[in-house]
Formats: sequence, C-alpha cells, structure tokens
Amino acid sequence: MSDTTPAHHFIRQIVIDDLDSGKHSLIRTRFPPEPNGYLHIGHAKSICLNFGLAAEFDGRCNLRFDDTNPSKEDIEYVDAIQEDVRWLGFEWAELRHASDYFETFYLCAQQLIRDGKAYVCDLDAEQVRAYRGTLTEPGRNSPFRDRSIADNLDRFARMRAGEFADGACTLRAKIDMASGNINLRDPAIYRVRKVPHQNTGDAWCIYPMYDYAHGLSDAIEGITHSLCTLEFEDHRPLYDWYLAQIDLAHHPELVAPVLAAGLSAPVSTPRQIEFSRLNFDYTVMSKRKLLALVNDGLVSGWNDPRMPTLTGIRRRGYTAAAIREMARRVGVTKQESVIEFSVLENCVREDLDAIAERRMAVLDPIRLVIDNLPEDHEEHLLAANHPKDEARGQRQLPFSRELWIEREDFMEVPAKGFHRLVPGGEVRLRFVGIVKCNEVVKNDDGSIRALHGSLDLESRSGMPGADRKIKGTIHWVSARHAIDAEVRLYDRLFTVADPDDERDGKTYRDHLNPDSVRIVRGWLEPSLADAAAEQRVQFERLGYFVADRLDHRPGQPIFNRVCTLRDSKK
Ligand code: ATP
Ligand code: MG
Repeated sequence: MSDTTPAHHFIRQIVIDDLDSGKHSLIRTRFPPEPNGYLHIGHAKSICLNFGLAAEFDGRCNLRFDDTNPSKEDIEYVDAIQEDVRWLGFEWAELRHASDYFETFYLCAQQLIRDGKAYVCDLDAEQVRAYRGTLTEPGRNSPFRDRSIADNLDRFARMRAGEFADGACTLRAKIDMASGNINLRDPAIYRVRKVPHQNTGDAWCIYPMYDYAHGLSDAIEGITHSLCTLEFEDHRPLYDWYLAQIDLAHHPELVAPVLAAGLSAPVSTPRQIEFSRLNFDYTVMSKRKLLALVNDGLVSGWNDPRMPTLTGIRRRGYTAAAIREMARRVGVTKQESVIEFSVLENCVREDLDAIAERRMAVLDPIRLVIDNLPEDHEEHLLAANHPKDEARGQRQLPFSRELWIEREDFMEVPAKGFHRLVPGGEVRLRFVGIVKCNEVVKNDDGSIRALHGSLDLESRSGMPGADRKIKGTIHWVSARHAIDAEVRLYDRLFTVADPDDERDGKTYRDHLNPDSVRIVRGWLEPSLADAAAEQRVQFERLGYFVADRLDHRPGQPIFNRVCTLRDSKK
C-alpha cells in the first residue's frame, strides 16, 4: 500500500521546526500503553504517530508499559501488546516499564517532601473528594498539609515499609487547593496498594499515580515529544509542574537507580502535545467495555474477529498495511471526530485488491449439470491468480460435468434487470464459456435439486464464439473436485452507529447485532486445500476471505470473511 508519503500535520510540523531550530538533534517518542487490556484500532493511531515520526526523522521510539496500577494489569496483556505492535510493522528502540523507574520515583518523591512540595495526607478517599471543591468552588486545604518535613519523610518511609493499610494515607503534591484546574489541587502522588505487581512482584506496596509517573518516565527516557490524547490537556500543567519541581537534569543522583539497573537515562525536558482520539462508528473502544464483552462471553475472546482490537481485526483478515494507511488518511488534529468504519474497510479493500489472489468458492450451492459433457469429463483450466498482476501466475482449475453455482445466481422467475442464469437463458461461466439452462429439477417439497444445462462448445476459449456478448458471468466450482470448508461471515458487532450513546436508557449491550456472525459450509476450488493460516484470498464476486489464524487446518479449512467487495451499507 502507498503509505510512503507521510501525511503532514501539526505535530509533524513541530518536530520539523524543533529539528530545524536545533532545539533537538534527535527526537525521541514513546508509545505508552497501560497493560490492562489488548490494544484496539484507536491505539493504532498513536502507534503509527509515535513510531512513524521516529522512523521518518531518524529518531527513536520506545514501547513503554505505563504499569502503575497493578490490580488491573496482567502479563498476558504485556505480551499481547508487544505482538500487536510488531504485527503493525513497528519495532521499538527500547522496551521500558514505568515500573523500571519505581526507585527513582521514590527518590523524587522524597525530594519533593524535602523541598516542602509534598506531604502525607490521612484523609480517606471520600474526604479528599469533599475537600477538593468543584469546578466553581475552590477546595480546602487538608488538615495534614502542614506536617513537618521530618514527619512527612518518616511517614512516607513507613508507607513504603507497609505500615499503613490500603487507603489509610496518600502522599500528595502541595500545589494549590484553589487552582482553577482541579488537577492542581494537591493531587495524589503515591497510594498504598498491597497487591503484587506483574513486573516488580512484592517489592512495593505503594504505587505512584499515573500523572506523576508518566512525565517522569518521559524525562528519564529522554523523550522530546510526549504525544497523548486530548483528555490529558488539562493534566499538562501538572505534567510540567512535576518536571519543573524535580528537575531531573540537574539531579543525576535521582536517576542513579535506573543506570544501576543497566538502563540508559538520557534525561530530557519533554513537551507534551495532545491530539484527538481516533473513534469509529458502530463500535466501542473503551477497554472496560471490551473487557466486559470478553468476560461476559458476548464475543469469543479479545481476538474474536468482530472485536475492534488489533488482534481481533488481524484475525478478521485486515492487513497491517491497511491500518497504517487508514491512520495516514485520518491524519492528526485536535478536532474530535468519529470516523466511518468504511474508511478503514476501504483501506483493507484497496490493499487486498492488490495482494489477494483470486479463487472461486460457492457458499450457498445449487448443482448445475452440463448434459452435453460426458459423465467422466475432466479438464484442468488455467486461471490467472490475479487479473492485474501477471507475475502471480496461474493455477489449475478443474472443470467437470457437475458444478456448484451460487443459489442467488439463478432465478426461476427472473426479476427485472437480473442478468444471470434463468430457465432457457444463458450466462457465462467464468473461464469456461456460455452455458444455457434447459431444465430445473425439483425435490418433492418444491425446492431445487439441480439445474440441467448445455455448454455452447463454440463459446469456449480459443473458439470463434468465445467473445460472444453475454450480460452475466458467474463463478462455480467443480462438484467432484471441490473441497468443503467452514466459512464465517462476519458483520458489524453493533447495530447502531453510536453504541456508547446511553441517552435512551440503553447501553452498548442492548445494541449487539444478533447477525454479526453467520457460519456456513461452502465449496472451494481445490487449490485452496493447502492454504496457510492467515492467507488472504478473494473469493470471486463474494468478497475477501482469510484462512482463520487459529482454527484453520489443512484438510479442515476455515475461512473468515474479511469484507465484501464493495461497501454494501452505502
Ligand atoms: P483506557 O480506555 O483504559 O483509559 P486508553 O485507551 O487510554 O485506556 P492506554 O493504554 O492508556 O489506553 O493508551 C496508550 C496510548 O494510546 C495513550 O497515549 C493514549 O493516549 C493512546 N490512545 C488510547 N486510545 C486512543 C485512541 N482512541 N486514539 C488515539 N490514541 C489513543
Ligand atoms: Mg489511558
């Protein structure tokens, strides 16, 4: 796909300016997921942005797990996130964890205390809320705000030593309880949480808050441009406050534990820049909701091909190139918007049109018997693998007297404008010639058992009548040679464009599409017998399909529909 020309946007311009002005000679970015769920297509925007800028400007991009909330994190997510980032086509300069810096965070907090910028507060969560004030009213100072530095240092050490129960106290920044920005009203820096951590095990029972850990992690890694979504805009003053107070660049002793662990710490003063999230219609993207779909068995797992997770859409057959192209087309702005899912689907179609070989498959078969061919007729036609790419060669396509054709390619009583097979009518069989339907044989219940017809031998390839004009062309497979397969026909997971909208009292769960998957058995041409898992093909006239990454086996083919050939929702 053509993702070679980078899309220009305001963040790219900032990077260009910073390199031109000499503010930076090397840019560093990072993609910082919390390992509390699988990545979704929204994350792809951030991944493409961070890794893409680093690649374009010879910079470096780290993958960093922002793992400050151990109770929701899992090593399963840590592994899956790495796999997904690599699948998207990116490789990190370094893999880091916020938890790699826990000791440094602790030293920084002690320094804040010594500077009179932090204190241990014994208010419980509810009291903290009450003291915080509202958007229109200032907050009130905590009664613990004026503890002595010595007392705070002692209490903080005891927090770390495990002397206090979960929730008994917090370490808070001493900023301004009257600030118009609620994030600056003495936010928590550390809380007590006696749970093991997926990376640090039982080493800690206090954990840093996200806002505190995030900026410091950026600074430790030498991040120049800290790119995040718009919801962090109001947190930027806090991000900058921590960096200014702690001033890592002038306190090398604070990063000593990082260096001692063998990690580099090219300290910087990062600049946070926000951009709008990627949202799609007809889906939900919050990790909480995706987790609920999984836990409640509403989908088969994080990798269900209907899920908007990267692992889900990968299994669905979407390509990494298509996702990168989508990100390029969507661009980067500060404007909140909802993108039509068809934007992504069209990128997938364009990519698959170029790369997927063509095959024939019949998913809702009726039998067509060609009476003017002998019972044992068998020939092997040569069919192009790709109509626009000769280099992809040809395959052998067996043809015989009895074929499967698609039920909807025949109409006993033709509707107006129907140009396929009808009683007494003619249609072109792809790669074969023109066939005429002479007879419709029925079962006792009136359903069609078989169609009988005759092949115009003059219309075969190389014959004078080969170019005879005929309106319709249909696909087929040879009944004797076809292999049978399970085919999973996927559709949208939700029936409404905005499943998150709860104004009518309904939630996303009320809008699940009952027809989001339909499983059929179909007949495939035999060259698909040795399809590899994840191989993508176009079933002519039906759509793009992929051999299921997990369930497909040689001899037991299982294909997923990636998408139809055209956007049928329009
Ligand atoms: P949650 O929904 O649990 O808050 P999150 O979606 O913000 O999580 P993170 O793991 O915090 O997930 O995200 C990692 C990075 O991806 C962050 O920098 C975040 O800004 C970015 N990101 C998350 N969702 C989107 C999205 N829809 N579009 C663009 N970037 C996103
Ligand atoms: Mg988040």
